[in-house]
Amino acid sequence: MGTSHDQGFSTRAIHAGQAPDPTTGAIMTPVYFTSTYVQSAPGEHKGFEYSRTGNPTRTALEENLASLEGGTRGLCFGSGLAATDTILKTLKSGDHIVACDDMYGGTYRIFQNVYAPFGITSTFVDATDPNNVAAAITDRTKIIWLETPTNPLLKIVDIAAVVELSKGRGLKVVVDNTFATPYLQQPLALGADLVLHSLTKYLGGHSDVVGGAIVTSDAQWAEQLAYVQNAAGGVPGPMDCFLVLRGIKTLAVRMDRHEENARAVVSFLKEHPRVDRVSYPGLEEHPGHQVALKQMSGFGGMVSFVLKGEKESDARELVSRTKIFALAESLGGVESLIEHPVSMTHGAIPREERLKAGLSDALVRLSVGIEDAGDLIDDLSRALG
Ligand SMILES: *Cc1c(COP(=O)(O)O)cnc(C)c1O
Repeated sequence: MGTSHDQGFSTRAIHAGQAPDPTTGAIMTPVYFTSTYVQSAPGEHKGFEYSRTGNPTRTALEENLASLEGGTRGLCFGSGLAATDTILKTLKSGDHIVACDDMYGGTYRIFQNVYAPFGITSTFVDATDPNNVAAAITDRTKIIWLETPTNPLLKIVDIAAVVELSKGRGLKVVVDNTFATPYLQQPLALGADLVLHSLTKYLGGHSDVVGGAIVTSDAQWAEQLAYVQNAAGGVPGPMDCFLVLRGIKTLAVRMDRHEENARAVVSFLKEHPRVDRVSYPGLEEHPGHQVALKQMSGFGGMVSFVLKGEKESDARELVSRTKIFALAESLGGVESLIEHPVSMTHGAIPREERLKAGLSDALVRLSVGIEDAGDLIDDLSRALG
């Protein structure tokens, strides 16, 4: 089945990388449960030698993701952090990263606790002002690492502006596109060098698999990354790849519904007397709204808010009281989740750093699912009650 970049997003989501199986006609990509491949003579094979190096189910997913992000090469991993780890392994001791301060807690942890001891250091800045990024660049800086919308404050970073200031300085710009997904934002088209995903979230979409991916059009870096993928071996199994492929087929319809529900929840929260402030890039008063309009085609399903009084105990109580919104880490599945970042996903960040980044003790994060919006609002209303 031919797919090309001219086809629409939803068509490519369903077909890219997934030709019907040539031997049986099976319309779904088979799960190739095999570790090795028989060769007709030494070194003569059909493109696959060993499943760490390559597996047809993984190849289908890698090609699919490359198409959706508009890149030339996709590489998949056993988790989002295994993808991050692979990128970091292409750096050397003495290299430096400038990263946004409001980022996924696990990314902060691998930067600071795993790679800093090897001499790969990071500086964290509020990247919503690109001048802060420019000021943190040194002659050792190799990567600018962005997340937008950020987690959990949903701040918006102007990708094109950061790409512009990085030009001619031998730097690469990495964008963690997990929150937006390629349906809402395509960083490579804005000039970024590489896109990273936790497939565990919206792309998988059903909270049943952990995975990661990177997509790039930088052929030289892609070669290096593929080398590390094989040499270090942080690859996903074929069943995991199949589950993500299946999830991606409905990405477009799911994202539309996530957003519709998120908008309804945001309207409810904004009017609620116990809520002090709501962060959602779709709100006109959100400081990143104009940039979001420019670089995204929608605002997604993540919402965060702070309770009046800024008390950690109030936030902890609220997240324990909802019934449909399940109290859990992670995000992006069809079911709604609620969490308290300070004691859960962002517990690895020291309190001082957190407060500096605007992460209140009374912050609550929602991953708004695709249930009926009325039931979600009733649930929050009762819990806030
Ligand atoms: C979950 C997540 C990651 C890490 O991905 P895993 O699949 O959990 O390893 C990285 N970035 C963001 C924004 C995430 O939400």
